[in-house]
Amino acid sequence: MAHRVVNFNAGPATLPLTVLQKVQEEFLDYHGEGMSIIEMSHRSKAFDALVVETEALVREIVGFSADYQTLFLQGGATAQFAAVPLNLSVAGKTAEYIDSGSWASKAVKEAEKLGKPYRVPASSKADAYKYIPTDFVIGKDAAYLHITSNNTIYGTQWQSFPGTGNVPLVADMSSDFYCKRFDPNKFALIYAGAQKNAGPSGVTMVIIRKDLLERSPNNIPTIMNYQIFAKENSLYNTPSTFGIYVVNLVMKWIKEQGGIDKVEKMNRDKAKLLYDTLDSSDFYKPHARKDSRSLMNITWRLGSEDLEKKFIAEATAQKFIGLKGHRSVGGIRASVYNAMTLKGVQQLVDFMKDFEKKNG
Ligand SMILES: *Cc1c(COP(=O)(O)O)cnc(C)c1O
Repeated sequence: MAHRVVNFNAGPATLPLTVLQKVQEEFLDYHGEGMSIIEMSHRSKAFDALVVETEALVREIVGFSADYQTLFLQGGATAQFAAVPLNLSVAGKTAEYIDSGSWASKAVKEAEKLGKPYRVPASSKADAYKYIPTDFVIGKDAAYLHITSNNTIYGTQWQSFPGTGNVPLVADMSSDFYCKRFDPNKFALIYAGAQKNAGPSGVTMVIIRKDLLERSPNNIPTIMNYQIFAKENSLYNTPSTFGIYVVNLVMKWIKEQGGIDKVEKMNRDKAKLLYDTLDSSDFYKPHARKDSRSLMNITWRLGSEDLEKKFIAEATAQKFIGLKGHRSVGGIRASVYNAMTLKGVQQLVDFMKDFEKKNG
């Protein structure tokens, strides 16, 4: 495996090596079916068993009860920006959105386009989205509160989730899906495109509390109707069969690591190593405010854009890839999703110390 790079891509992103090996091993003959997973009917017994197992596995990792159901949908998190207001709006009620970054504001724009009443009680836009706005009051009778649990571009993450009483809490967890333990019962719905922390692109997990399914109106596009997809166990039409299969393997990988608490510990160790390095001198300038730092996407700047270019060029030459920050923020971003190893982060930190010595 000497030719595999140390992959800090923001998404699609690194996946556990053992998962990739399992995919390779099973690819030509999935479970004795004599064909690959991408050649078999989504109506077959073998595939149906896979969906049933994966639906439960996804809930099991953090303890979502049978009051919830996992849906496997397509269209990425971007489709959910529209599906959430289409399904969860309630006549006479206003939806609330916390604006903690550009994905959050894209979610707002879809609600606006659909003509749904909404309010943004808090935003950190004026401060370059350096922090999670946590000081806000929502309407007691809001249709739902939408948050983005991790802001992939800025490297900020909710450290704890708000209690919302009877107001359904909805979270876009695309970039920190199952990176740490959280209380599932706080949420009415979470969604995440698989391609950052759970699998390949093409499948989106939606975990919805079943009582909310009643809200889906009949007059919305079928492809976005939660109630129909729940009733059909995600098999209303052809799903991303390969995507669901890889998500299944990644969930099993989390269990093999010792479960979500072990994965969280690994993520905290990796993030600490990087943040300690950023904090140990003025050479590296972290973007996110300390109280809002992400475990998954770690962002920083250097003294000049030229120095940043040099940093990325030298890092790439040493097989550290995907470190260029998002174009809206610039600088450097290291995405250290679940599958990134502590060793990979240690190697990057060694490189950073060396780079600082030579250029500081
Ligand atoms: C990547 C990302 C998205 C967009 O996901 P798609 O699957 O490409 O639609 C949305 N929200 C967050 C938080 C993301 O990180």
